[in-house]
Amino acid sequence: MEILVCIKRVPDTAENEIEVNRDGTDIERDDLVYSVNEWDNYAVEEAIQIRDKVGGNVTVVSVGDENAEEVVRREMAMGADQGILLSDDVFEGSDGKGVATILKAEIEKGKYDLILTGAQADDGAGQVGGMLAAMLDWPFASLVNKIEISDDKKISVGREIAGGNQEMNEMDLPCVLSIQTGINEPRYVGIRGIRKVASVDIPVHGMGELGLSPDRIGKAGAKVNCLDYFVPDPGEGAEMLEGSTDEILDKLVEILKSKGGIK
Ligand SMILES: Cc1cc2nc3c(=O)[nH]c(=O)nc-3n(C[C@H](O)[C@H](O)[C@H](O)COP(=O)(O)OP(=O)(O)OC[C@H]3O[C@@H](n4cnc5c(N)ncnc54)[C@H](O)[C@@H]3O)c2cc1C
Repeated sequence: MEILVCIKRVPDTAENEIEVNRDGTDIERDDLVYSVNEWDNYAVEEAIQIRDKVGGNVTVVSVGDENAEEVVRREMAMGADQGILLSDDVFEGSDGKGVATILKAEIEKGKYDLILTGAQADDGAGQVGGMLAAMLDWPFASLVNKIEISDDKKISVGREIAGGNQEMNEMDLPCVLSIQTGINEPRYVGIRGIRKVASVDIPVHGMGELGLSPDRIGKAGAKVNCLDYFVPDPGEGAEMLEGSTDEILDKLVEILKSKGGIK
């Protein structure tokens, strides 16, 4: 089975204090530590497990600047067979539709049976997987938490539904699935794995290679424009706890005790 996993390089929320920039157009990106989007890591692990069961190849692909190569390499160190970086100055400022347009162009250059995305990334829109499926005219399932391969034409996918119940659906291949966290336990990436792929060639495809026109991607093609970026005012009755993590925890325990939440 030929599997392509779409991965995004995002600020690592465990390693950074995220702040809005001075003009309210984005977060402050200087000195941020980046990593692979958490959902995408689960998608790559799932793809590796499927390949190891039924054979085939796992390719990881990212749309981003030259720094996105580091997450492509990381997921190759995890076990993906190939990596591709989709990068071009004109891709900058793409909205979700622009990102999906770029990914679709790459997908059409290959012959894939299964495309995996994360359920959502840092911008939280959860839109790229669904848009990609619609553009390819392939079946789509979102928030997938279980995959069983029936044969080379069909796949069974599970989703959690209301009340913690589980639903299973059979789908035709090729298809696009957006993967929910918790579907598996992503493996640890050791230094040996990182070294093994350190000098592997990662092809970079830009607008020309992908046959894209500049009016459909980047800022020019964006149909959604971010108007403002801000930290919402605390709601009435909300209390912001400040201090070190330990101090915040102590205050939280005190509040929960005083309100009868814990004894
Ligand atoms: C400088 C800058 C300018 C921007 N301008 C705009 C704008 O004008 N309008 C606007 O709407 N948005 C804008 N964005 C947001 C950006 O385009 C979003 O990343 C995009 O909309 C995807 O949304 P998301 O992160 O919510 O992805 P989701 O749809 O939540 O992601 C779901 C999954 O899609 C896949 N995916 C998402 N992004 C990528 C990627 N880059 N490469 C590979 N796979 C991916 C991953 O598998 C991911 O788990 C801008 C971002 C930047 C940094």
